[in-house]
Amino acid sequence: MLKEYNFDLSSRNTFRMKARCACFVEYGSVDELYSIDFDSLPKPVKHIGGGSNLLFTGDFPGTILHSAIKYVKYVDLGLDEVPVVVGSGVVWDDLVAELCGHGLWGAENLSLIPGEVGAAAVQNIGAYGVEIKDLISGVSCFDLQEKKPCKFSVGECAYGYRESMFKESGGRYIITSVLLRVSRVPRPRLEYKGLAGVDPSSPGAIRDAIIAIRRTKLPDPEETGSAGSFFKNPVITAADFVRVCDAAAPGSIVPHYVLDGGMIKVPAAWLIDQCGFKGEKEGGAAVYEKQPLVIVNATGSATPGDVLELERRIIATVHEKFGVELHPEVEHI
Ligand SMILES: Cc1cc2nc3c(=O)[nH]c(=O)nc-3n(C[C@H](O)[C@H](O)[C@H](O)COP(=O)(O)OP(=O)(O)OC[C@H]3O[C@@H](n4cnc5c(N)ncnc54)[C@H](O)[C@@H]3O)c2cc1C
Repeated sequence: MLKEYNFDLSSRNTFRMKARCACFVEYGSVDELYSIDFDSLPKPVKHIGGGSNLLFTGDFPGTILHSAIKYVKYVDLGLDEVPVVVGSGVVWDDLVAELCGHGLWGAENLSLIPGEVGAAAVQNIGAYGVEIKDLISGVSCFDLQEKKPCKFSVGECAYGYRESMFKESGGRYIITSVLLRVSRVPRPRLEYKGLAGVDPSSPGAIRDAIIAIRRTKLPDPEETGSAGSFFKNPVITAADFVRVCDAAAPGSIVPHYVLDGGMIKVPAAWLIDQCGFKGEKEGGAAVYEKQPLVIVNATGSATPGDVLELERRIIATVHEKFGVELHPEVEHI
């Protein structure tokens, strides 16, 4: 177990924000997690994964916990539906590569999403028409409130769009492992626009295609700091949508998706782009040229203040122009 005080978090968040925490604890097994004396740790306690959906807005006064539980157990590779138990500290994309290498279907559309398996189950990560909830059978946790292990079926996880019971619980449950079901039987999922023409012959072929597409659109966290999509796509009423159309440039078509119940989802990227923010800079932070939904640490030395100011300006300008309130998807700590 690693336990360090006054720990530097800059290499533990993909935004590369310089922040420290009072204490950092990394455990390598469920037994090590159970042995932690939580009462003695600086508070509050926050669990992180790869830090790819986080913005540290300053130093953290409490304890940052991290799982280094790294195992992948195939329960029976001979079945059509193969159950796989995966430790929460496994890097998600390493797992996807391994599953594709075994010719197992299900996770390939989720290739190259940064972060670790535990957080993937918290976030219900999704891309190209697939969400991790489609693969999850159950989740094993440690209940910080009751100080005991517990398990949840996929139904009990209450998954929605980037939502879960874990997110709602305010950090009560530490995920220790996830039970996935992947398929030996081919089941390519290529309905999503942009995947037309992709070679469906193997999960590896689809993975390669998705990696190639993602590399043209999103910054590589190894090269440019970011936390991916910074804002959620707003869901608005039909009346508010009319207001957006009225405010849009003459002749432009407002992209949108009508949801069950009549509410309308408008891409935040489009709203931000229409306000002229593509490439906009604030100190060391900038709106990513190729995808205005992403704020990047362009210089490598952006401060939390730079990011927060750019966020504030984007929210204010989109609200002024379109009357729509944007909310960050990235968790501020
Ligand atoms: C370039 C880029 C592209 C991205 N593309 C996508 C995408 O296509 N689709 C998508 O869905 N997301 C995407 N993301 C967002 C991000 O990768 C996901 O949200 C990912 O699941 C976060 O994983 P993490 O390990 O980094 O978690 P962190 O950011 O460290 O934590 C996320 C949340 O999970 C909680 N958590 C972490 N580990 C545990 C645990 N073991 N138990 C309980 N709670 C825990 C944390 O407290 C926090 O609330 C992208 C991010 C980047 C930087």
